[in-house]
Amino acid sequence: MMDSAAIKQIAKRCGADIVGIASMDRFEGAPPQFDPRFIMPKAKSLIVCGFRIMRGSFRGVEEGTLFTNYSAMGYGFINQHVMPLNARYVAAAIEDEGYEAIPLAYHFGWSAVEYATGEWKHGKPHSRAVAPGKPYPDVMIHVRIAAYLAGLGEIVYSKVFLTPEYGPRVRFGMIMTEMPLEPDPVMKPGTLCNRCMACVRECPGGAISETETVKVRLAGNDVEWGKLDVNKCSYAFRGAEKVADGERGTFLPPELSRSLAGREDAFKPSSLNPFYKKQSQQFTHGEAICTGKGCMRACMINLEKRGVLKNRFKEPFRTSPLWSIDWSDYDPDHMDK
Ligand code: SF4
Ligand code: SF4
Repeated sequence: MMDSAAIKQIAKRCGADIVGIASMDRFEGAPPQFDPRFIMPKAKSLIVCGFRIMRGSFRGVEEGTLFTNYSAMGYGFINQHVMPLNARYVAAAIEDEGYEAIPLAYHFGWSAVEYATGEWKHGKPHSRAVAPGKPYPDVMIHVRIAAYLAGLGEIVYSKVFLTPEYGPRVRFGMIMTEMPLEPDPVMKPGTLCNRCMACVRECPGGAISETETVKVRLAGNDVEWGKLDVNKCSYAFRGAEKVADGERGTFLPPELSRSLAGREDAFKPSSLNPFYKKQSQQFTHGEAICTGKGCMRACMINLEKRGVLKNRFKEPFRTSPLWSIDWSDYDPDHMDK
């Protein structure tokens, strides 16, 4: 039978940058809608594969000259192509040994609950449990919790997942299997995050609370992060800013604006955004105009300065003050004239 080292070697040959393994008992206490054991009751192991986002994928946004690259190559392409292929190859190698394996990329679009909040997606279940005692379809696996339980790093104050290799520049896919494998030790909270609070200070949406936190217990450790205002992140992430009273803004499409602020013309471009209108998604993901100014870029700068990451660079990431756009003469009808 293959052991953990052999599985990791296969996963790395198939494109993963880092690999960790969780035993399923580490999910004890998970809410049923987030408990992977309901998906595969005989599962013994969850293999979590990390795929790095190139530091270069943040460069165009730092310079203010190329905004698609992070959304495309650092986000959608990894989730939609790299991760599913890797999970499929690893699962096939495991099934060749006679153990069932589910390739799990980031495909939880039918889940009953919201990933960020754990609330029912429509305020109530959108499905029926198929039998008493089972959760509602679809069950979702909380990827960051899975990565933590597989020993790949820690969930930090920004609620982002940091790894010792790449800091916040990683996305995760999974393979759940009935094959028993040796699990990796989990990381002690506070190993990478020093509570510098740069993520809070530099978040353009003010979406990460400095005072309110969420605490969970995972594999015997207390893990805590700042409460995230998902609504504020949703628009700030897209480079939108709420207009002042008496102003109109046409940056977001009317329906999206209504869903985020209750009216169709509530958002203009923020000072981090050069576009008059929201641009298209890349590989069905993204429009990441903010590109994690607080939770990714500021955090990465802090980690690199402290020298705690294994992936080191010859040049510092930021060498001059970040640009900002003056939209004081913003005209909401500019594109329609
Ligand atoms: S920016 Fe600082 S406080 Fe925020 S997650 Fe990173 S290390 Fe922790
Ligand atoms: S993605 Fe941007 S808006 Fe959202 S929490 Fe991170 S820094 Fe804030």
